[in-house]
Amino acid sequence: MSNGLTMDTLVSLCKRRGFVFQSSEIYGGLSSAWDYGPLGVELKKNIQEFWWKEMTRLHDNIVGLDAAIMMHPRVWEASGHVENFTDPLVDCKNCKQRFREDKLPEENVAAKKCPECGGPLTDSRRFNLMFKTFMGPIEDGGNLVYLRPETAQGIYVNFKNVVQTSRVKIPFGIAQVGKAFRNEITTKNFIFRTCEFEQMEMQFFIAPEEDDKWFEYWKNERWEYYKKLGIRQDKLRFHQHGPGELAHYAKVAFDIEYEFPMGWQELEGIHNRTDYDLSRHAEFSGKDMAYLEDVTNKKFTPYIIETSAGLTRTVLTVLSDAYEEQKIDDEDTRVVMHFHPSIAPVKLGVFPLVKKDGLAEIAQKVEEELRGDFATFYDHGGAIGRRYRRQDEAGTPYCITIDYQTKDDNTVTLRYRDSMEQVRVKIAEIPDFIRKADKAYRREEK
Ligand code: ATP
Repeated sequence: MSNGLTMDTLVSLCKRRGFVFQSSEIYGGLSSAWDYGPLGVELKKNIQEFWWKEMTRLHDNIVGLDAAIMMHPRVWEASGHVENFTDPLVDCKNCKQRFREDKLPEENVAAKKCPECGGPLTDSRRFNLMFKTFMGPIEDGGNLVYLRPETAQGIYVNFKNVVQTSRVKIPFGIAQVGKAFRNEITTKNFIFRTCEFEQMEMQFFIAPEEDDKWFEYWKNERWEYYKKLGIRQDKLRFHQHGPGELAHYAKVAFDIEYEFPMGWQELEGIHNRTDYDLSRHAEFSGKDMAYLEDVTNKKFTPYIIETSAGLTRTVLTVLSDAYEEQKIDDEDTRVVMHFHPSIAPVKLGVFPLVKKDGLAEIAQKVEEELRGDFATFYDHGGAIGRRYRRQDEAGTPYCITIDYQTKDDNTVTLRYRDSMEQVRVKIAEIPDFIRKADKAYRREEK
């Protein structure tokens, strides 16, 4: 990709700076599971909050939900997951590697040839991706439960509860963020595809005849959302699912794809799921899932437009998109993460120019005053230039330095991450200054 970023570089930056660590690393790691370190957890939480605000608070007709991960096993029969949530699995008879047939190059599928060693591939067989476990002490079929493979079903089975307890009227949405689990056949590419991950889903319930209108609406809204999140537009594109790709429940589906270091891949799916889900739950549970429109007295089963984004996959998108290795001059380069200020793990670095002459005490006091408003980070170790560079790598959009002039006039140096430009700001005006700078933020690259 244009910033020359490879996945190896990103993985090593994430480890070095505490964004993402391999799970159970001291035991040799658990493949496809990852832990979010001090900077990573802040980034992930900020993205989640950004999504939540965009998808609930900024709309008067979307409410939230937090459903349990384990659900009645009949849910997954009704949803079609027990029958259909499978991927085609092939093995190489020679090197024993395992692949998802639908992700292999066409020539390998046609020749039944391993993409790694050229050996022969087995016939493909359907592999169900749901993790199973048992609830209670007895491990038998009667106690079988699944770890949910998507958060959506928790929303559908609560449709009636939400209608009856809140004042929502169709069209309206229910939003949820939470963990999902899939026993993926191949999980390479860092946090792109993992067995445990998080989704941010919003299900929008509508009158069936309005499905095209609302599908277009959410397609546009979701594109605008990524713009606001600060993702570069030329790294995003839509991909429409062809007839062979459509999921069993979908009438129309578009993915928003991002150009990751390993190429274009899905970041979010926008689906017209029709009345499939509510009708199936009505059939399998025997409960009425229809909606009664009070003005017209019309009863119908709503259609659903789904926007389904990966939270952990968005973290990878944001990390990949933010990365820049910048040449300052002939001798000097820096790594800078251009996170949008609204999601940066640290908003403000606070430094004394030197530790002595009371500057450290003033800096600590300033930092304490600001920590209620912003995620701050105090640092007095090493040369000031090095401290700036460390914050550039962490993606901190602003740093302030307390120097000798501060003692005379209560001003500090404020340095911008992207342009490295420095301005003087009065201590009392820092919060306002930062709020304005956040609003005006436009990514700057060299
Ligand atoms: P694929 O065909 O690539 O396996 P999918 O089309 O089944 O994925 P969806 O069911 O539409 O994916 O899931 C919605 C979103 O959830 C995806 O766009 C992605 O961001 C996220 N997601 C799905 N599976 C994973 C996973 N294994 N790891 C991380 N994120 C995932």
